[in-house]
Amino acid sequence: MEIVGFKSFADRTKIEFDQGVTAVVGPNGSGKSNIVESLRWVLGEQSAKALRGGKMPDVIFSGTEKRRAMNFAEVTAYFDNSDHYLAGHDDEDEVIISRRLYRNGDSEFMLNGKKCRLRDLHELFLDTGLGRDSLSIISQGRIESVFNSKPEERRAIFEEAAGVLKYKSRRNETESK
Ligand code: ATP
Ligand code: MG
Repeated sequence: MEIVGFKSFADRTKIEFDQGVTAVVGPNGSGKSNIVESLRWVLGEQSAKALRGGKMPDVIFSGTEKRRAMNFAEVTAYFDNSDHYLAGHDDEDEVIISRRLYRNGDSEFMLNGKKCRLRDLHELFLDTGLGRDSLSIISQGRIESVFNSKPEERRAIFEEAAGVLKYKSRRNETESK
């Protein structure tokens, strides 16, 4: 991943997630959760609250005593697709997505260097286990909500895990035409 201007990451920061387990350690307030949130964000998170903010531009580096605030945030995620798992990208060994947001609210998503819609990213990750609402990122609060949620909500979690959401969303689309 590459993060610039997102929350505490003013400097362009590269983080590599190799095979196996990666643990991020550091003192309180050093930005560990911000890394996870940057991933959630580039995957399409639309709720500022889920990112501990009031409005989306709150994710942009807001400055410190020594450093001026920035006017945009950008996160890029590089996915190893050498197993050609991602739908529609069978011939690409790497799939790159990025998201950029300016203070004035302008924003853009890119897929392999081309502008795309948030919806394209949704489609890309639907049923891969990687989507915005998937189980690949579980926050502290979410664990509780899985146990406490209503049966329908819990069902949605199982549907994502079972990989049937794609068909459901296509059906809804067809029905609405
Ligand atoms: P803990 O161990 O307590 O969970 P952490 O390593 O997860 O800490 P984070 O919550 O990721 O820490 O980082 C919090 C820090 O990020 C705070 O110092 C906060 O000031 C900073 N921060 C959050 N949003 C911004 C922003 N928009 N601009 C600059 N700094 C920010
Ligand atoms: Mg934290």
